[in-house]
Amino acid sequence: MAKFPMRGLLIALAIVGFIVFIASQNNLRQSSTNETLSVLLRDASDSYLSKVEVNGTKVIATRKGDIPTRYVAFTPNPLSTDEIQRIFVDKGIEVDVRHSFNWSALLFTLLPILLLIGFLWYLTRGMRSGNDGAMQFGKSKARMVSEEESNTFFKDVAGCEEAKDDLVEVVEFLKNPEKFKNLGARIPHGVLMVGPPGSGKTYLAKAVAGEAQVPFFSISGSDFVEMFVGVGAARVRDLFEVAKKNAPCIVFIDEIDAVGRRRGISVNGGNDEREQTLNALLVEMDGFETEHDIIIMAATNRPDVLDPALMRPGRFDRQITVDAPDVKGREAILKIHSVDKPLDEAVNLKQVAKRTPGFVGADLENLLNEAALVAARHGQDKILPADLEEAADRVVMGPARRSRVISPHERKLTAYHEAGHALAAHLLEYADPVHKITIVPRGNAGGYVMNFPDQDRMYSTAKMLLDSIAVALAGRAAEEIIFGDVSTGASNDFQQATRTARMMVTRWGMSDRVGKIALSEGSNSYLGDYETGQSYSDETAQQIDEEIKRIIDEQYQRILDLLNKERDLFERIVSALLEFETLHVEDFDKLMRGEELDLHHEPVEPPQVKEEAPKEDLDDDEDASGSIFPPNMIPKHG
Ligand code: ADP
Ligand code: MG
Ligand code: ZN
Repeated sequence: MAKFPMRGLLIALAIVGFIVFIASQNNLRQSSTNETLSVLLRDASDSYLSKVEVNGTKVIATRKGDIPTRYVAFTPNPLSTDEIQRIFVDKGIEVDVRHSFNWSALLFTLLPILLLIGFLWYLTRGMRSGNDGAMQFGKSKARMVSEEESNTFFKDVAGCEEAKDDLVEVVEFLKNPEKFKNLGARIPHGVLMVGPPGSGKTYLAKAVAGEAQVPFFSISGSDFVEMFVGVGAARVRDLFEVAKKNAPCIVFIDEIDAVGRRRGISVNGGNDEREQTLNALLVEMDGFETEHDIIIMAATNRPDVLDPALMRPGRFDRQITVDAPDVKGREAILKIHSVDKPLDEAVNLKQVAKRTPGFVGADLENLLNEAALVAARHGQDKILPADLEEAADRVVMGPARRSRVISPHERKLTAYHEAGHALAAHLLEYADPVHKITIVPRGNAGGYVMNFPDQDRMYSTAKMLLDSIAVALAGRAAEEIIFGDVSTGASNDFQQATRTARMMVTRWGMSDRVGKIALSEGSNSYLGDYETGQSYSDETAQQIDEEIKRIIDEQYQRILDLLNKERDLFERIVSALLEFETLHVEDFDKLMRGEELDLHHEPVEPPQVKEEAPKEDLDDDEDASGSIFPPNMIPKHG
């Protein structure tokens, strides 16, 4: 049996014994009878008593006689010395004044106090351990990734060769610091990886962990953020404490924008906690000097919101850009992620890479996974090109919706709308060529035209931009020409056209009237462009609006004329679409050359759904995943 119940039993016994003892003491006194005060006083004045025992208000009197009897009487107030003298001593009665120790009274006064003390003790004990809890709060949540644990290596990363080279150097430094120190080179303190979501920043960090052969601590920026002010800062200090003990080592802070946000511009009126955390981080990064070989790696997709103090030399003095991969990179990533997937010989990964511009590593991995799922659903044991095709559509647009019935009129409207886009893309000299055109609804889109450049490109020219605006407007133009009525299906097209026109005017100096000035700073954000406050006059604002309208109106007129002129081609595309629903680049080119189409290889998907209206969702997808299927118009900055 355990020790504790024994002790509890003993304590309980002691208490019971004590109570019994007190009770018996009382009982002893109680064995005498009670008399009134007047009896006591009469007995006393008659000298009838041999002895009294005075104890507060209680008087125990012993009568004279052969058999002395005792009784108890109570006085209203405790008797004073004078009164005792006068009433008893003067009459020759022996007096015994007792200040008896009243155990029960003591118990009853002490018990609550004892209980209180016990309770307080218990409480403070709880608080002491609670304090430990608060101390735990301040502990960083950094997780040490051991080499065995990390099964990612540099060879698993593709498509970002420059970033990889930089990181290889970092790892080299930790493995072999003398080589660098002998040349007087200072180790980079901080390495900041910057790139769109899914481009492989976290993945690269894992590869570093796998290769480094030094301890690797991984923590996410959001782990510093807590409800209580000061905790984040404490965690930062603890993290560095741990890191110093384990030097040489690597500390990786993922999504550092959660703590590293520029101070003082917080939208919700300043955030003390975050600022304190950031300050602690800045101080710590300055604090460990050359004697500690610690390299801080961090990743973010919002370098624009980071505090400038973080980028100062001595802190994150090295920036590594992890960009969305180019064609070759995409092909390499596809190769890496398809090693465990049985591909049909007909699958050409180069081709897949070519038709997925804007896809980042995460998208490509997802694409292959979707393709495998499609293949499994069809009961195949290999992934066919068609599965990859389907998967690409899924990744971009969501799964095909074949369940809802659509009216023949809606289907026709979609066909004309998409044919307008396709024809414009085909005819305009600087527009990106058509790769696929379909009126099978996907996600929120009733149909779509996929057109993108044959190669990735860095810049767009004004002519390319104007043509891309015209292509975007062509859907609406087609509706107007054929039906004399317009639908809500073009809202996304307008957004795209307007955005391009606005950028031409305010950012790329492509409007003669407004001039060659940058009116919108733009931002380095990977999450699309947003205006950073207006810094020009109202007249200029009006000019900008007029210029945007002029550009859009001109392009709309141009495309109306073009579609009217090429009515034959236009109708040819529409009837092919209504028959086959999906046209690929070869089919489309054939059609444009006036050849007869025979698409028996392509099973016609049942004619059903059409819902063109809320195409805006596509935009969000673009932003979120960095994958852009509608023309890749916004030039990248080198
Ligand atoms: P982020 O940049 O947002 O941190 P991740 O590193 O989490 O992106 O990438 C998500 C996944 O995408 C990785 O787990 C990896 O499988 C895949 N991936 C991304 N980039 C690459 C790449 N360059 N090479 C191979 N796989 C990649
Ligand atoms: Mg990440
Ligand atoms: Zn459209």
